[in-house]
Amino acid sequence: MSKLKEMNDLLLREHYSTLVCSYEKFQAQKLTLNMSRGVPGPEQLDLSAGLFDCLKENDYKAVNGIDCRTYGAVDGIPEAKELFAQVLEVSPGEIIIGGNSSLTLMHDLIARAMLRGLPDSTTPWGKLPQVKFLCPSPGYDRHFAICEYLGIEMIPINYLHDGPDMDQVEQLVAADSSIKGIWCVPKYSNPSGITYSAAVVERLAAMPAKAPDFRIFWDNAYTVHHLTDTPPSLLDILNACKKAGHPDRVFVFASTSKVSFPGAGIAVVAGSESNINWLKKQISVQTIGPDKINQLRHIRFFKDLAGIQAHMRRHAAILKPKFDLVLETLEAKLGGKGLAAWSKPQGGYFISLDTLPGCARKVVAKTAAAGVILTPAGATFPYGKDPEDKNIRLAPTFPPLADLKQAMELLALCIQLVSAEQELEKRGLS
Ligand code: PMP
Repeated sequence: MSKLKEMNDLLLREHYSTLVCSYEKFQAQKLTLNMSRGVPGPEQLDLSAGLFDCLKENDYKAVNGIDCRTYGAVDGIPEAKELFAQVLEVSPGEIIIGGNSSLTLMHDLIARAMLRGLPDSTTPWGKLPQVKFLCPSPGYDRHFAICEYLGIEMIPINYLHDGPDMDQVEQLVAADSSIKGIWCVPKYSNPSGITYSAAVVERLAAMPAKAPDFRIFWDNAYTVHHLTDTPPSLLDILNACKKAGHPDRVFVFASTSKVSFPGAGIAVVAGSESNINWLKKQISVQTIGPDKINQLRHIRFFKDLAGIQAHMRRHAAILKPKFDLVLETLEAKLGGKGLAAWSKPQGGYFISLDTLPGCARKVVAKTAAAGVILTPAGATFPYGKDPEDKNIRLAPTFPPLADLKQAMELLALCIQLVSAEQELEKRGLS
C-alpha cells in the first residue's frame, strides 16, 4: 500500500473508511488488556518459586554469625554485599543492601539532600532558591515523579543513539550551579532500550560541574536483564568517576524486582566509600536494619553471580518471544509506511515507539476505547509533557502471547487511523 501522502483524496477517504471498519470490529471484541506497566508475567514469577522454601527454620545465620532474625547490619549481610557488589562490579565496601525497593533508596537519598544536603553541599538543596535535574527523555516516569514531588525543576535532555546528548549535558552542568543531578538508566534504558556508550560514560564522569555536590543518579535497574547471548557492555561508571578525579559523583542503584519478585526483592545502592559511609549513617537514623531474612533467602536461592545469570536466561527465554512478536507485528503492519519508528532493544522491559508528531495521545486514547490500556502518552517526559506528542512506551512482558498479538494489531491499526485522520484534517477533508 502506498504512503498516506501519496494517496489522492479519494483513495485517502477510502483507506480511512476501511480502517474505521477494522477498528469497529476490534471494539466489538470487547478486549480488556492492560499493558501500561513493565511487570513480569506470572510465568516469570514462577521461576522464583524456590524463594518460598529455600530457608529452613534453623538457617538464620549470616556468614559472619549474625542472627538474621533480629535487628542489625544496617548495610546488609556480608554475603549479600559480596554478591551484589559482583553484579554491579564494585567492592563490598562500596555498597549498601537496602529494603525491597530501589525507588525508595533514590527517593530517600534525594529527600535527604533536600533536607540536609549531601556531604559536599554547602546548603541543603531545599534551602536553595532553585534545584534542577537533567532528565534524559523519554525516560522513567517515576524518576520524574520524585522530582515533581520534591519541587525539583526538570530539564529534558534529548537522547541520541548511544545515550543522552552529551553536548547539551556538558554545557548545562558546567554553567548552572542549581543543576544538582542527572537521572540515567544506562543499560536498556526505560523506555528507549539504549545502552550508554563508553564515550558517554566517560564524558559524564569527567565533565566539569558548577555545583560541587552535583550527582549522577545511575539507575542500573536492567543490568542483568539481557534478551541476547551477546549483551552490549556498559562501562563501570564508579571507576570512570574515580579515574576522572570525581570519585563521589555517582550513586548507583539496582534491585532484584525483575529478577525475583517485584515488591519482595532486594534493592541496593553503591557509590564511593565516602558516599556510602555517609549514607549508612543517614540510613541508621531511619531504620535499625533491613529485612535480612529476605537477603539470606535470596543468597540461598541464587547462590552466586552464575546463579543469577542462569536465572536471567530463564527470564529471557520467556520474554524474547514476546518482544519478537511485538517487533514482528509492528514491522508487518507498519513497516515502510513512514507512520512510526520503534526501538529494537537487546534487553530490559520496554519498546519505545514514536508515532508521527501530534498523534501519540490520540493513539493511546483510541486503543483504550477498544479495550487495550497502554502507558499514558507523555508519561515518559518530565511533567507528562511530550513536546512532540509522539512517544509511546510499550511494555510487552506481562500479557500472554495471544493477547499481545491482538494488542499490537490494534495499536498498529490505531496508529494508521490517527495518522489518516491527521492527513484528512491537513487537507481540509475531515
Ligand atoms: N528503575 C527503573 C528504571 C525501573 O524501570 C523500575 C521498575 N519499573 C524501578 C527502578 C523500580 O525498582 P524497584 O522495584 O527496585 O523500586
